[in-house]
Amino acid sequence: MSTRADVDTGAAGTPETAEVETVDAVVVGAGFCGLYTVWALQQRGLTVRGIEAAPTVGGVWYWNRYPGARTDTPQEAYRLTFDQRLVEWRYSRKYPEQREVLQHLDFAADTFGIRDRYHFSQRVVSARFDEAESRWTITTDRGRVVRAQYFITGLGLASESIRPAFPGAGDYRGRIVYSTDWPEEGLDLAGQRVALIGVGSTGVQLAPAIAPFVRELTVFQRTPNYVIPSQNPLISDAEHDEMVADYERVRGLVRSHPVGFPFELSTGRTTAGVDREEVDRVLESLWERGGFAFLYTGFDDVLIDLEANALLVDFVQRKIRSIVQDPDVAARLTPSYPYGAKRPPTSDGYYETYNRPNVDLVSLREDPIVRFTERGIETQSGEREFDVVIVATGFDSATGPFNRIDIRGRGGAALTEHWAGGPSTYLGIAVHDFPNMLMVAGPHSPFANLPPGAERIGRWVADLVATARREGAATVEPTREAEQRWNARIQADGEASPILTAGLEVNSAAVGANVAGKARAFYFFNAGMHAYSAELDAEEQAGYPGFRLV
Ligand code: NAP
Repeated sequence: MSTRADVDTGAAGTPETAEVETVDAVVVGAGFCGLYTVWALQQRGLTVRGIEAAPTVGGVWYWNRYPGARTDTPQEAYRLTFDQRLVEWRYSRKYPEQREVLQHLDFAADTFGIRDRYHFSQRVVSARFDEAESRWTITTDRGRVVRAQYFITGLGLASESIRPAFPGAGDYRGRIVYSTDWPEEGLDLAGQRVALIGVGSTGVQLAPAIAPFVRELTVFQRTPNYVIPSQNPLISDAEHDEMVADYERVRGLVRSHPVGFPFELSTGRTTAGVDREEVDRVLESLWERGGFAFLYTGFDDVLIDLEANALLVDFVQRKIRSIVQDPDVAARLTPSYPYGAKRPPTSDGYYETYNRPNVDLVSLREDPIVRFTERGIETQSGEREFDVVIVATGFDSATGPFNRIDIRGRGGAALTEHWAGGPSTYLGIAVHDFPNMLMVAGPHSPFANLPPGAERIGRWVADLVATARREGAATVEPTREAEQRWNARIQADGEASPILTAGLEVNSAAVGANVAGKARAFYFFNAGMHAYSAELDAEEQAGYPGFRLV
């Protein structure tokens, strides 16, 4: 621990303290992953220092404060659960909004002594492994230096936002706002002419949330999405009490589900031999129910078999045509790629928004942006004027937040070079030549509901560290062979999925196709959270054969 009171100047780039702080572990990030891991390591007797760029806890839930922001995971599975008080945390709706998720994380950070462990408002800029000392030296943009045996990342999947360099953006006199950095004081859009660029999970939540009070909303769409309503009912006291009383059942469902949702693993049926009317009847009832039930509780074969998948595609295409009154707008909103090739979003009233007289849609495939002008945006068909441009263009996920930090392992090896062709890891947790660097939900871990994933992986990482300390090991590092085996598994699972590989054609983040110049690779473990969890169990029970603890 540092020996002198810190001098917090508050300014980025200004050294806060001349002291080097020494702890057992540094954890980067104060979202679900970071907060849980700080707690778990403290429970195992380590001294821990958390570092977070935001001024407070929350991770994505701190930065993404845009109107309409909420999770599309049912609330019973969108929480930390390591203490009964967290299980009993009361959300008001089935799909909690950003403010409530942030309150949940605040509650966890304050109740369990986690917040005090953090340095906030500073970004880690470098992390270097010192081989002689088996220690990491971690430096922030405010000049703080922390030395630790373990460098543990909880950087999140959606923390490195994409900010396209639109030609002429500097000429634009209006305001450009990023959904990933929405003004904390709010933004009054009433009566404004607003452009919204991007129709991913973020854009499809934003559009219906702001359309009722802006003067004009013009949505700029590159690739259309399949948008399912969430319906988002209020949670009654009786439903909440029932969930709490029955939480072991919820845990069991989440544990055994591929994306960590509280659904049964199997629906017990496929589309084979089922007539179209029956398929439609099932899908219609799931549309009414809302959310990811549409994908996971209808038929087992829709994410495996393209013909089965085409039934979902056809159903949503017909829905769009039936909701959107203008057939030209409906046609532009209608996707035709396999359902799930891009992460499908949910939103209430999204398609209905295009029936409003103040809402317009520009399809960038037919009418691309030429440049920003002083007054607005010029596409091939002409110039439109805007007071505000909202940019909701997504994230350089998985490896993006790592690339931003200068991470050096053995012999000064740069992680960016090791990952130049896409991520290379063992279990999505560790990397050969980067001893004692452990990732909680790093690249190659499952693309799944994160709160249960944070606890599952964070606990596993904390147990690995505790084992190494018990055994007196200075370093924990995966073998090259284990890493190669894992990489081959990721590749084979990815190639076997026709839905996932279709993502290459539609800019899917799961294959790096949403970022210009990013290596096309499989960035996540695709056999599901349940299969991943079994891999973690097997590794632990066998005494960590894929690692060297020396
Ligand atoms: P996204 O899904 O990647 O969507 C980004 C959008 O911006 C896409 O429509 C994309 O078009 C467009 N775009 C990107 N670059 C562009 C450019 N230069 N010009 C014009 N359009 C451009 O990003 P997101 O909506 O922020 O969501 C990212 C992830 O965050 C989601 O997959 C999800 O995991 C998470 N998220 C979850 C929730 C939720 O739980 N409800 C809400 C928000 C976000 P293309 O499709 O053609 O690339």
